[in-house]
Amino acid sequence: MEIKITRAEVLKEKPDSSTLGFGKIFTDHMFIMDYSREEGWHDARIVPYGNISLSPASTTLHYGTEIFEGLKAYRRPDGEIQLFRPLENARRLNRSCDRLCLPELPEEYFMEALTTLIDLDRDWVPSAEGTSLYIRPFLFGNDETLGVHAVNHATFMIILSPVGSYYKEGLNPVSIMIEDQDVRAVRGGTGEAKCGGNYAASNRAGDRAEKKGYSQVLWLDGVERKYIEEVGAMNVMFKISGTVVTPKLTGSILPGITRKSIVEMLKNEGYKVEERLLSVDELAQSMADGTLEEAWGCGTAAVVSPIGELCYKDKVYTVNEGRIGELTQHLYDTLTGIQWGKAEDTYNWTLKI
Ligand SMILES: *Cc1c(COP(=O)(O)O)cnc(C)c1O
Repeated sequence: MEIKITRAEVLKEKPDSSTLGFGKIFTDHMFIMDYSREEGWHDARIVPYGNISLSPASTTLHYGTEIFEGLKAYRRPDGEIQLFRPLENARRLNRSCDRLCLPELPEEYFMEALTTLIDLDRDWVPSAEGTSLYIRPFLFGNDETLGVHAVNHATFMIILSPVGSYYKEGLNPVSIMIEDQDVRAVRGGTGEAKCGGNYAASNRAGDRAEKKGYSQVLWLDGVERKYIEEVGAMNVMFKISGTVVTPKLTGSILPGITRKSIVEMLKNEGYKVEERLLSVDELAQSMADGTLEEAWGCGTAAVVSPIGELCYKDKVYTVNEGRIGELTQHLYDTLTGIQWGKAEDTYNWTLKI
């Protein structure tokens, strides 16, 4: 693949690490590439970061034909830059494309676009504790018609955003509301695809939880509203009587790369891990009888987010006295150690750029 590079004439000033937040600041360049049924993927280019032009009839604006990925570039203590399992993102992107009938992108195009763009903007990878460069690849249908047809034109892009530490005040356990009205996804729907539409469907419950003082919702399955699925936009895990239980991938759950990595790590370290259906009643019972030892969400943004309180049907349960659990802390330390290059990567999960 040939990438045409047009450099920004004036480079932006790099922000102070303490002011980064999440996804508000963007680097100097972005990657963009077009697809048409006749030509396939073509016109790979890196251009100065800026607005794009779309037809008002673009299918993505009307029918939600959009999928995305999320990963990070980390600054190692020796100054080098590395990614965490980027090929997993390339593969998941294509599984999401398949679900939405968007054209798949060859893995090597994804990898070359990613590494070329990051290399060009490498000075944007921050080095302060807990900071990183968030990478947002996304792909959308871009036909100029209101007719609902198969996708004939699409666009793939990557933008980069330096982000602050998720945990400015330390790894504080969060309060979660178990949602028993709205559902995020159903089996056979788009729950296992990383698509924008899933987020649109989640907004109302998220708003309601926030108004009640909770930071996220815990989703139940869309058919019986009985089985635990995910927490906000993270996968979820529980330590019950010494065993780590996480909902199995039934089709309505997003297959997180953090989830997959933690499961592999736990098994490697000799922990008992079960990927299975977990009903909200079983969870409530484990909270009532004290066998629920720890609970946490996991995903790229937060890595691991300890859960200190769960509310179900107006009953509030405290997990591990509202403190971060020993295993939760261990997982956070081990995974962030590998990601930021502070610990040896015995799993071969990282890729230096
Ligand atoms: C992206 C995402 C996750 C976490 O996936 P990671 O690959 O670990 O970042 C979990 N749930 C939802 C709904 C997501 O969109």
